[in-house]
Amino acid sequence: MIDLNSKKPLIIAGPCSAETVEQTLQTAQELAQSGKVDIFRAGVWKPRTKPGGFEGMGIPALPWLVEVKKTTGLPVAIEVANAKHVESALAFGIDMFWIGARTTSNPFSVQEIAESLRGTDAPVLIKNPMNADVELWNGAVERFAKCNVKNLGLIHRGFSGYGSSQYRNTPMWHLALEIKKRLPELPIFCDPSHICGNREYLQEVSQQAADLNFNGIMVESHITPDAAWSDAKQQVTPADLVTLLDSIVWRNEGSDSVAYQTSLDELRGVIDRLDDEILKLLSRRMEAAEGIGRIKRENNVMILQSSRWNQVVERVLARSEELGLSHDFLNILLEAIHIESINKQNHIMKSEQ
Ligand code: PEP
Ligand code: MN
Repeated sequence: MIDLNSKKPLIIAGPCSAETVEQTLQTAQELAQSGKVDIFRAGVWKPRTKPGGFEGMGIPALPWLVEVKKTTGLPVAIEVANAKHVESALAFGIDMFWIGARTTSNPFSVQEIAESLRGTDAPVLIKNPMNADVELWNGAVERFAKCNVKNLGLIHRGFSGYGSSQYRNTPMWHLALEIKKRLPELPIFCDPSHICGNREYLQEVSQQAADLNFNGIMVESHITPDAAWSDAKQQVTPADLVTLLDSIVWRNEGSDSVAYQTSLDELRGVIDRLDDEILKLLSRRMEAAEGIGRIKRENNVMILQSSRWNQVVERVLARSEELGLSHDFLNILLEAIHIESINKQNHIMKSEQ
């Protein structure tokens, strides 16, 4: 049985799609020879946004994966999107499965697959749904758990958004952290290939995953990436994959070193004291806002004074550089403060009527 926690980082790599027997075997051999890959992935059924693209080789590709297993010793993983896929894959002895982002988005499909895998020991990795919905992701995990699928894991592959951005799928790391918090016992892998949609940011995204304590990555690699039948822009050669993997620093979760522990405790103490100060100041700021609420109430003036608020924001943002705090952060912080001030003033208006 494959233990997803047996090694950290666990590296799953292989082409987006199994295209031909030669491409599949050659890619697998090069990846296995690198000694850096633990599990071979290849798509056999490809969910495509539009009809007419390469939809995967289907069942004829399954014996190629059996051959990969035999010749390289690597366990093999494929995407399954319905019960028929599962049935064929199990018949060929495929070792591991993943649920694609489009499938996770559909509870009917997830339920069907979970039932077809009932009781299996084979690992099932559940990709996040296309949309930024942690409940749906969590719900898919629950469906598998209810069918007694015990060897579960997660794959974070970013979320689809409207319009163009640096990424094909926005990472929204906070959602990966949220699911990690809810399901701390499940290993979570990052799929930098589908987040990036190109080769340029693979390193950056993989490093971010390593820094956020992911259990490993699933990354696409192809012997001739530019000629790939699907996701050509984001795949890398096995040689480039080695360079990528060597460049990722997987740091320790902690350290027993006394010096490390002492400095950490000291800095944590500083942070706790500063947090206390910040909270006291915020509380005093709210008291001042309540004072303003009273004056407004006495003079029958409405709470929201947009021009004043714009001044507050402008004044603070003008100091952003000097403070070393980004506009994004200051905007979020000010908005939270503003909402609380308005709530306090509202309360005053109501209670003193
Ligand atoms: C894939 O892994 O090749 C794939 C289709 O991924 P996703 O479901 O994340 O789009
Ligand atoms: Mn792909």
